[in-house]
Amino acid sequence: MDARDLLRRPVLAIAAAIRSGEVSAEAVTEASLGAIAARAGLGAFLTVQGEESLQVARAVDAARARGEVLPPLAGVPIGVKDILATKGVPTTAGSRILTRSGEARPEDGWRPPYDATAVARLRAAGAVLVGKCNMDELAMGSSNENSAFFPARNPWDPTRVPGGSSGGSAVAVADGMVAGSLGTDTGGSIRQPAALTGTVGIKPTYGRVSRYGVVAFASSLDQVGVFAQDVASSAILLQAIAGHDPLDATSARRPIGDLGAACAAGAEGARGLRVGVPREYFGEGVEPDVERAVRAAIARLEAAGASVVEVDLPHTRHALATYYVIATAEASSNLARLDGVRFGLRREPPKGGLTGLYRASRGAGFGAEVRLRILLGTFVLSAGYHDALYVRAQRVRTLIARDFERAFEAVDVLVAPTSPTVAFRLGERTTDPLAMYRADVLTLPASLAGLPAISLPCGLSEATSERPALPIGLQIIGRAFDEASVLRAAAAHEQGSPRLPAPPAAPAST
Ligand code: GLN
Repeated sequence: MDARDLLRRPVLAIAAAIRSGEVSAEAVTEASLGAIAARAGLGAFLTVQGEESLQVARAVDAARARGEVLPPLAGVPIGVKDILATKGVPTTAGSRILTRSGEARPEDGWRPPYDATAVARLRAAGAVLVGKCNMDELAMGSSNENSAFFPARNPWDPTRVPGGSSGGSAVAVADGMVAGSLGTDTGGSIRQPAALTGTVGIKPTYGRVSRYGVVAFASSLDQVGVFAQDVASSAILLQAIAGHDPLDATSARRPIGDLGAACAAGAEGARGLRVGVPREYFGEGVEPDVERAVRAAIARLEAAGASVVEVDLPHTRHALATYYVIATAEASSNLARLDGVRFGLRREPPKGGLTGLYRASRGAGFGAEVRLRILLGTFVLSAGYHDALYVRAQRVRTLIARDFERAFEAVDVLVAPTSPTVAFRLGERTTDPLAMYRADVLTLPASLAGLPAISLPCGLSEATSERPALPIGLQIIGRAFDEASVLRAAAAHEQGSPRLPAPPAAPAST
């Protein structure tokens, strides 16, 4: 079996091929590194851990030769969003503020003295971490164009964005460079890029995966999750990173269950499943191709034995405003630690004392969108506005969460589009923040409610003279801590519909 083709197989198939000796872990890692190099123009990675990952792979092969029992993901190549701390390996969160030089060179990045918990758990499961994936600066964005380094490009059409903020993690999986990747999702940053690149991306329940070692954006919303080529692989990777962690005070002690088994019923999993279709998710701004593909997916679930009802989530229209009050408030507070004193960039002007240090370091290190968010967040928390904006947004957040609770009295999962549109062009929304923010209107509500949600492909848009056929994402939202039902529904849809082809291998030098 050719190692390059193997990268498009499920993670357990890759691990099995390595375990059986059909292919060496070294060959698989080489194939991954080769694919990353061949498609460097897509900008998926900020740092490639070439020699280090080959060493890990060789150690897997040596352990196998000694007859040792290999851990479940031994030899599987994985990419890690550059917002997760990796011991000794540059970690920039897509920002110049975390580089020593203040220049757009990822190799100058902060080298953490420890691994994020999700990273440590993947390593313990035997995965080979091949590099750090590109992202919007400090996870703020929906297109990866806010990366301080370079944009990532969509393999389906390199003139288009892959979505964000975990754009590099999505591209790496979509293009077959790695078998899976880690991302984070605060308002849609895993699901939206998964939708735009034709990959599977799951954001678990808030508290399901430790946030220890994740550069914080909005702490009440941030969640670590995964990208993979197929639903079962996403379940396996999520299983590896999920679970209580004493190092994160918001990490939950709830049982995880067997997530792989949740996918095992395949198409049969639709039988008896109660599916809710939220009316508000098919409103203005949803492209006709997206609506058509999602409605067809729902019809297929129904034909496979699911019961389908329409539901109302009446506070949906307030999600965008609510999110941008809460997320910016939390960001303004979290990012205060990036001040030139402890991490990364330090600019000391001759005069101005400590304030001068802050001003110079932060002024040089943060990009425009991050500065905008810090200003907004500081404003909504300021005396006189705090109650009118921040406290009020918290109340609306509760109303949004209650909408979901009510809906889940009658259904097991909610099914809707992930993104209102397919991938847009680079530059198309960079001067219009609101147009960019609207990319997440359909993912923000589940984030505000802390619920688990997946995006998986449900077909391609019609090719036109304007654009090629592009992936469309189906979003499935579940009850808190019920990732199992989300995965069951996703696996049922996946088994019951044609698999997306691989993206065209276009030259990525645009
Ligand atoms: N696009 C949204 C934002 O810019 C969500 C980002 C995220 O989930 N990290 O805030």
